[in-house]
Parts: sequence; structure tokens; C-alpha cells
Amino acid sequence: MRGQWRDNIEREGLAPIAITISEDSEHMPCPACGTAAALVEGACSDCGLQLE
Ligand SMILES: [Zn+2]
Repeated sequence: MRGQWRDNIEREGLAPIAITISEDSEHMPCPACGTAAALVEGACSDCGLQLE
């Protein structure tokens, strides 16, 4: 499955960046401080910026 998917990317010439983003989408990096940790009550756990 995964090897075939890689073959498709090489064939289609898709940028691997899109894959990296989709796999990391669980924790979006904070736009203020860049922390990609889980949110605490919808806010960045590092700087406290409200994200949700
Ligand atoms: Zn932050």
C-alpha cells in the first residue's frame, strides 16, 4: 500500500511537502510561537494563544 503510494508520487511528480503536512495535521504549530504540542483548552500550551 505505502510502497505503491510512493510509486504514484514519483510518477505524478507530487511534492512530498503535502504528505508531511497531512501526517502532522493532528497538532498544528502555533502561529505565534511555533509550538506543535497539543492545545490546552483550545489554547497554545506554550504561549497561551487561543487557537480554537
Ligand atoms: Zn504558542
